[in-house]
Amino acid sequence: MRFASTRGASPPAALSEALERGLAPDGGLYVPEAFPTLGPDDRDAPRGLPAVGSRLLAPFFADDPLAPALEAICGEAFSFPIPLVQLGEGTAVLELFHGPTAAFKDVGARFLAACLQRLVGEGDQPLTVLVATSGDTGGAVAAACAGRPGLEVIVLYPAGKVSPRQEKQLTTWGGNVTALAVRGTFDDCQRLAKQALADPEVRARRRLSSANSINIGRLLPQMVYYAWAALAYARAHGAAPGFIVPTGNLGNAVAALWARQTGMPITEVVLATNENRTIPEFLASGAWRPQPTRQTLATAMDVSDPSNMERVFHLFGGPGAARARLRAFAVSDEAIREEIRRGEDAWGRIWDPHTATAVRVRRQVEGDHWIVVATAHPAKFPETVEPLVGRQVPVPPALAEVLERQGSAVAIEADYEALREALRHG
Ligand SMILES: *Cc1c(COP(=O)(O)O)cnc(C)c1O
Repeated sequence: MRFASTRGASPPAALSEALERGLAPDGGLYVPEAFPTLGPDDRDAPRGLPAVGSRLLAPFFADDPLAPALEAICGEAFSFPIPLVQLGEGTAVLELFHGPTAAFKDVGARFLAACLQRLVGEGDQPLTVLVATSGDTGGAVAAACAGRPGLEVIVLYPAGKVSPRQEKQLTTWGGNVTALAVRGTFDDCQRLAKQALADPEVRARRRLSSANSINIGRLLPQMVYYAWAALAYARAHGAAPGFIVPTGNLGNAVAALWARQTGMPITEVVLATNENRTIPEFLASGAWRPQPTRQTLATAMDVSDPSNMERVFHLFGGPGAARARLRAFAVSDEAIREEIRRGEDAWGRIWDPHTATAVRVRRQVEGDHWIVVATAHPAKFPETVEPLVGRQVPVPPALAEVLERQGSAVAIEADYEALREALRHG
């Protein structure tokens, strides 16, 4: 299997090359050149997540140097539970938040780290993973790479602009993880990281890679939980489910669409956004018009120009076809609050603000077989959730362990010389 750029101006790449590059040289995003269709044998065998992953992803790894390691990589990435829980007639929830940082990004980050580690041969120069974060991605990548030989991680985050719990998840790993607290905004962090990735002097001294959310190594493993959940649901109910996905940069939803493309029993993938309404407005009007990003309660979905839309257009064969095939609903902060407030009465659940958008959309779609995708644990967002439910949210063990550790970060100014200096050491 080879991977093409959505912009079509770079040659197709092998999987390993696409993983290390992140972005294609023409600025496009890598997509599989073809989608293998899985046969009845692949659908019937009742097995766990790592086994479904090895089978589903084998065609995407074919001919790549990483192919022999696929089973081990799946074992490392899918080492925490992903329960599919029936909540009542017609609605189930897929809980993606039982990993080390209590959000779905753990799956993609762990899989990518397991791949990158294996791309660094013994005795090779280590690979430096540079990641700019507004909070959640950096924590997942740091947790996934911590302690892995051959990898070094440098996380840039805006000082004072992440939540106290997020900061713990960025700064408490030590060892091969360095956290840089940038005196500036998330955009500054992203700009600095991009400058470093393009700097020949830095690249001459370090082998650099970025682990941002457009890396295909984060999307492939996300297909696995959709395939696994759809197969399990179809076996139990004799009907294929649809998924409702809390959506920001569209990485999670694209993985669901790709899983469907391989023939998995999935009726529809419905997008739930917050008040950043570029996608629902595009589907309604046909015009792609990103507005300035709005701050909402579902902060990890505060994206106004989702880069993975390029992959959606590529998959369907253009914007017009995508419009005809997709549904998306925007959810206001007020509606998010309402769903959190009544979560325990209506569903027996405390929702986090991101999952609450999908729960809201469940009320707007007809029919019986829906799986709501839960992207984060409510204990990650106590400032929002606890006043609404009127009590403390119990902290899951993996998160509790991180919160107990002492964090440390290196403060730097938001200028490139400061980052360059930091990259010279360590
Ligand atoms: C990142 C994130 C999202 C959005 O996922 P995308 O792949 O960017 O669409 C939703 N919920 C949570 C909790 C997240 O961290």
